[in-house]
Amino acid sequence: MRQPGLISAEWDSPLFHQTQTQLDRAAKLISLDENIFQRLRYPQRVLMTSVPFRMDDQRVVVLPGYRVQHNNALGPFKGGIRYHPGVSLGEVSGLAMMMTWKCALMGLPLGGAKGGIRCDPSQMSRNELQRMTRRYTSEIINFIGPDKDIPAPDMGTNEQVMAWLMDTFSQNHGYAIPSVVTGKPIVIGGSLGRVEATGRGVVYTVMEAAKKLKMKLTSKTRVAVQGFGNVGSHAAGKMARIGCRIVAVSNHSGGTFNEKGLSVDDLTAHHQAKKPLSEYKKGEAITNEELLATECDILILAAIDGVVTAPIARQLKCRIMAEGANGPTTVEGDAVLEKRDDIFVIPDILANAGGVTVSYFEWVQGLQNLFWSAKEINQKLQQLMADAFARVDETSRKRKVSMRQAALITGIERVTQAMLNRGFFP
Ligand code: GLU
Repeated sequence: MRQPGLISAEWDSPLFHQTQTQLDRAAKLISLDENIFQRLRYPQRVLMTSVPFRMDDQRVVVLPGYRVQHNNALGPFKGGIRYHPGVSLGEVSGLAMMMTWKCALMGLPLGGAKGGIRCDPSQMSRNELQRMTRRYTSEIINFIGPDKDIPAPDMGTNEQVMAWLMDTFSQNHGYAIPSVVTGKPIVIGGSLGRVEATGRGVVYTVMEAAKKLKMKLTSKTRVAVQGFGNVGSHAAGKMARIGCRIVAVSNHSGGTFNEKGLSVDDLTAHHQAKKPLSEYKKGEAITNEELLATECDILILAAIDGVVTAPIARQLKCRIMAEGANGPTTVEGDAVLEKRDDIFVIPDILANAGGVTVSYFEWVQGLQNLFWSAKEINQKLQQLMADAFARVDETSRKRKVSMRQAALITGIERVTQAMLNRGFFP
């Protein structure tokens, strides 16, 4: 019998197209089992909800909220919650698929998910954010839990949002259940090192790439960072601490450049004072496009998806490009990069996996009620990032494919193995 098949219109979005195209290409390269392939092209489950909550002026607004669970062959679903005006079903579905490959690539016993609300958190008060988070949590409450699906921070969310989520979930069950989320405040079961983990992880992969390319990381090593949120600011700070020179930093408001180097601490203070980076006095104002085209040794992308298009990819002047954001390179941009052997790409699912890795540590510590020291966490994180880098590098050499293809293949093969071992229900 011919079946109509899964209609893709519901998921249509640039990011879903990007992640699905990546899967399609990798599947071809490894001659992926057709049954598994069809299953992996779509999420296992999507939950769409309208989230009503009261604004401070007493109006009730209703915003679309999502939780997408892509695959749980390896363990409970895992992935962040995003608050951003660009959130859509397609975007969240693409990000959920990326989480599946990321967790598998890192060897974590976790599946892939993502959630979010289409909103602009910068325009909301703390009370509005709290009411929205609590209602969203109660809408998705039957689908999450320490053994089911464990949310975490992503763009626009932070420790405080995770604390409200944990509290709403716990109040509904009648006792404290910290392990329902990761990235929560330390005092309620968060892990040391989780806030900085994604940025640190990016730097650990850059260190491995530099070793491979026989490139010394010194005060002459010029680093440009796009994005100065949680990932970008911690990555810049760690690059500076290992002795490199941060020459350019930007965010949505523009950027700043100084050939002699910028102080990350000083920039952080400027940023925390809510001043635009382009108004930073000890640097020259630059645009985001200029930052991407800056002549540098290391370019860290830690802003948003879709920034490296084909024309931008042609303009890049870095030696190593590390993707701290999810999906910063478009399919067309990637085609250009695959031909440019002067740029070594550390793909997103490898470069930014430090976040979910320490989330995994947090989950394990919470389940055991036994907490580790910061030193232990950072050492374990560095080891796991270095091991994953080595696995991807090996696959890239053996199969003669790009680091991106190699990372995807490594993740997809692990998920496939788990699915084949578990068999098909019913
Ligand atoms: N949102 C982060 C990511 O995209 C972290 C997810 C997590 O810790 O579960 O990897």
